[in-house]
Amino acid sequence: MSRTILVANWKMHKTIEETKLFLEVLARDLSERTSDRGTGEIWIAPPFTAIAAAAQFIREQGLTVRIGAQNVAGQPQGAFTGEVSAAMLKEVGASFCIIGHSERRTLFQENDALIHEKIRMALAQDLLPLLCIGESSVEREQGRVKEVLRSQLAAALRGLTSRDVEKLCIAYEPIWAIGTGKTATPELAEEAHAVIRDFLVQEWGRDVAVKIPLLYGGSVKAENIVSLLKQPDIDGALIGGASLDPQLFVQLIRCVHT
Ligand code: PEP
Repeated sequence: MSRTILVANWKMHKTIEETKLFLEVLARDLSERTSDRGTGEIWIAPPFTAIAAAAQFIREQGLTVRIGAQNVAGQPQGAFTGEVSAAMLKEVGASFCIIGHSERRTLFQENDALIHEKIRMALAQDLLPLLCIGESSVEREQGRVKEVLRSQLAAALRGLTSRDVEKLCIAYEPIWAIGTGKTATPELAEEAHAVIRDFLVQEWGRDVAVKIPLLYGGSVKAENIVSLLKQPDIDGALIGGASLDPQLFVQLIRCVHT
């Protein structure tokens, strides 16, 4: 895995106007440094309402930034008030979709079966699924990290072919590190990433497993991103809080994409 992927998860922040202001700052920074960006990728997941405007801005400016969604329905269409389908997301310019974020699992009771259906819906529309998994602090204290990660992976990826799995991206996000300021040490994060990589190797073989980017998420900031990304199985980062301020996000990009 040679590319480094930085994903901004804006959660329920930013109107269309605020999205455009953010992207203008990002565009200015990227245009100043087109030649030294290396192999890094930037992905942004605004709220549903700002996806179309963000995708249009990126297209018009010719930026190599992916725009995605933070969630997708587990059904293709129908009487599901308030849900947004994979086809709808694709139509407004999303090219990836975060699935199974711990806030969806804990605050909105999303279970493994639903997360599996969401992955299937995304794949059917050629929307890249960014699957999030991770243990709670209690599960870590109980020494159950490996068991929890393997069980979340087994349930979410059940029955997928190598061709499907190769299209995925997976984020390890320990719940105790999300939005808390507590980051996993690079060693702890690498240990968990190695568990994920081993699972993928065991199920689909090494050639497939090495193609799947594994991202770390949980209070990533300029002070810790470099040491996290030095780990052999960490291919990028999923960033919440530090991706909301364009200056901070640009600072993170500069730390990594040099
Ligand atoms: C997230 O929401 O995916 C996340 C990692 O948030 P934060 O960076 O704020 O911990």
